[in-house]
Amino acid sequence: MKRRYRTGDQIWVRERNLAIVLNYLWEAGGPISRAHLTEISGLNKSTVGSLLTQLQSWGLVRETGLSGQRPGRPGVLIDVNPDAGRLIGTEIGVGFISVVVTDMKANVLWRREIETTDAGKRLTDASQAEVLEQAEGLVQEAISQATNCDCRLFGIGLGVPGLVDHTTGTLLFAPNLRWSNVPLRELWGRRFGVPVVVENEANAAALGERMLGVARQVDNFVYLSAGVGLGGGLVIEGKLYGGMGGFAGEVGHMTLEPEGPQCNCGNRGCWETLVGPTAIVRRVRQAAVEGRAQNLLALAGGDIDAIGMEHILQAAAQGEPAVLSALDEIGRYLGIGIANLINAFNPSLVVLGGVLSLAGPYILPRAQQEVDARALVAARQGVEITLSAFKFDACVMGGVALILRAILDNPAAWYPKPAPEVPLEGRVAFAASVL
Ligand SMILES: [Zn+2]
Repeated sequence: MKRRYRTGDQIWVRERNLAIVLNYLWEAGGPISRAHLTEISGLNKSTVGSLLTQLQSWGLVRETGLSGQRPGRPGVLIDVNPDAGRLIGTEIGVGFISVVVTDMKANVLWRREIETTDAGKRLTDASQAEVLEQAEGLVQEAISQATNCDCRLFGIGLGVPGLVDHTTGTLLFAPNLRWSNVPLRELWGRRFGVPVVVENEANAAALGERMLGVARQVDNFVYLSAGVGLGGGLVIEGKLYGGMGGFAGEVGHMTLEPEGPQCNCGNRGCWETLVGPTAIVRRVRQAAVEGRAQNLLALAGGDIDAIGMEHILQAAAQGEPAVLSALDEIGRYLGIGIANLINAFNPSLVVLGGVLSLAGPYILPRAQQEVDARALVAARQGVEITLSAFKFDACVMGGVALILRAILDNPAAWYPKPAPEVPLEGRVAFAASVL
């Protein structure tokens, strides 16, 4: 039987304390003194010293000089060591693959994005193999970049636009890719020989915003990203909420119009068919067909089928009425859905990523108006709707955050077990067998 709670033996206590000290250092965002660390962690001075020695021996933290601000003896400043290792964040999207390499402080050292061969085409099993091969080639390139210093590669965080089984790291179903049952963690773990964490793209992005972006210190928020579909990630009480099977947050497939457009998930009138980029393009193309969007048509070279998001944003910037009204309608449906989410989850923040973040200025005012009109007063008060810190990189930064989170949760798991310590005089000596 798998036990739900690990009992608190001394190894566990030390692992927890190592994680606590590392988390405080991470959250500080820059060098802090040992004295300050002792104060905020509530641990005693000698314990902090011993934990720091351990973290330093792993190379996770480093001394960065002396603080001269306090009276008396200057204290040593401690910081997370950016060169402790490298992390890779990857996104397999619909029509593209994106990869970043960062240091331990999530500074981006290298990034690349390629279009995949499936862009714009209906996918087949053959193209799945092709896309996977392209993704693996790009990750291999990232690994060469990551390991060209003496640094260790901690792992690869991968975001995918679909449902993920967290116990196996298998992509179960990605409606817009038309992939199902791809054991990505197993495939990539074997191929690259480092830990691989697979997560739904919006969940990964939500974690990225929470750890590195606009939602730092925000305990309850909803992340919405529009790629080809509309993904959602829920952070509840500081943690990514997965639900029973890890599939929570698929808010793009809430039914908003029972007889609405067909969705790739098999349902009709899903939220994503009303506010996603496909919906935006569909609406403005209709306006162009009816001869109401001449500027837009000219921007697309007179070809209605060539109209894309870039033309729509340009035409909106030029103030083309039909385009502005289509975006306003998108804002209306966006606001209706957000009002529902506010009533359901009482977040303090709603973060918009992907295409939504680009079209923000044209859709946000109407979305806000709908939220004000529809959400319960008590729940909507103080809710901020804001744009992602990373826009199109939200998911790859989320991939980095997946690995970072795993390291911060239990740094000891990433290193060989420490040698038993000689107990200090006056402290309780632990039985050597448990150390
Ligand atoms: Zn759907």
